[in-house]
Amino acid sequence: MEKIAIIGTGFVGVVTAAGLADLGHTVIGVDIDEAKIDRLRSGHVPFSEPKLEPLVRKGLYSGRLSFTAELNHALIDTTYIIVAVPTPPDKDGASDLSFVHAAIDAISAHPQQEVVIIVKSTVPVGCFKTLQARLDANDKRASLVSCPEFLAEGQAVSDFFSPSRTVVGANQAGVAERVAELFEGLPGARLICSNAETAQLIKYESNKQLAMRVASINDTAARCEAFGADVHEVAKGMGMDPRIGEHFLRAGIGYGGSCFSKDLAALTYTARMAGLPTGLLDAVAEQNEQQLRRVVAKIREMITPGQKVAVFGLAFKPLTSDVRSSRAIAVVQALMGDYTVIATDPVAAGDEARILLPGVELTDNPWRAAKGAHCAAFLTAWDEYRQISLELLQLQMARPAIFDGPGIFDPNKVVKAGFRYSGIGRPSRSPLA
Ligand code: NAD
Repeated sequence: MEKIAIIGTGFVGVVTAAGLADLGHTVIGVDIDEAKIDRLRSGHVPFSEPKLEPLVRKGLYSGRLSFTAELNHALIDTTYIIVAVPTPPDKDGASDLSFVHAAIDAISAHPQQEVVIIVKSTVPVGCFKTLQARLDANDKRASLVSCPEFLAEGQAVSDFFSPSRTVVGANQAGVAERVAELFEGLPGARLICSNAETAQLIKYESNKQLAMRVASINDTAARCEAFGADVHEVAKGMGMDPRIGEHFLRAGIGYGGSCFSKDLAALTYTARMAGLPTGLLDAVAEQNEQQLRRVVAKIREMITPGQKVAVFGLAFKPLTSDVRSSRAIAVVQALMGDYTVIATDPVAAGDEARILLPGVELTDNPWRAAKGAHCAAFLTAWDEYRQISLELLQLQMARPAIFDGPGIFDPNKVVKAGFRYSGIGRPSRSPLA
């Protein structure tokens, strides 16, 4: 078992730290955000992720997991250093590597003899040349390894212990295999050891595929509406073909979250810089923007300016408090000037949403949101919303109208309960008079 330092204790860093400690390694997480470190030290995870807090507490009690804001302290006698800092997009869509560079420079400045730097942050193909140059400039002996992260928020702990694959890429012989040993003990993990560029591209192309499937089914949804078909049935029928498969064929309000848009933009930028065609990548991004405009237009059709919209769901997907690049937030931003918007979410109606939606009333109480509303716009597929009593909802609202973005309701039941119904990829319907 090894001693491992993890730089950056956000979504990826905390899950990886707690998971590796559970596998038996001694792990120390380090972050520049001291408040975050204080919370983690006391066993609290600063965001909502199922099963993570008990795992962090288990690691703390075992003595194998600890957190610090002192990088130098974290690096003492540590050969393996995982970098899990942000790589946000810059104004051209390129990946802003300043956090990664800061981490690499800090490692370089540390006197530890020889280290293996494992980059879990999503970084553009080919960037190891620049990182290596930074290390060389400081005479730092280090091996660079790409170990992209594939966890999905909302199921990150399960993803850690049952990964779909573990990808480790390095350009020096034997290093990828050494790093892969850190993850030994994970059942059924399919391992790919490759060069660094292959590993980096696997990450980007995976997110491109997923974003492309979402864009594709949303593109299908528009035709379903025009021709009176039901996109859910169309997706089911297509997904039964094993060459297509059923996953990620759910029509909705478009893809969001901290990764898909930024990774697609970074891939597009990298391809453009290499003089490669980007038509397919551009089309996926454009479809997703078009989808946002369609969603907003559909909600606008259901109400008149000044009326009240109750928005159900702010998180970019269920089971997370993450609102980064959430499509639901973008929808509210598009509506808030013309309508009175009140938004509810079981866990994501907090400070981060408040900053993004100034002046919008936020609540975790769905009934409070529904009170006096002229339209209930469901935007995140929380299970709680699937089970909501339509009868009680109607009693709260000023006028019974539902926009079902993620397709969580049976339109027949909604209409039968007396609501006007509008959704994605299904014909709009009104209750029979
Ligand atoms: P995050 O913003 O949640 O966390 C990053 C953390 O790094 C923050 O706590 C920040 O304070 C810290 N940090 C920044 N600079 C630092 C430094 N110099 N030293 C120490 N700490 C520093 O980000 P995240 O969602 O965990 O994403 C991290 C990387 O993983 C990104 O490249 C992202 O694209 C990639 N990724 C994320 C996900 C996901 O679902 N969130 C999935 C796969 C890959």
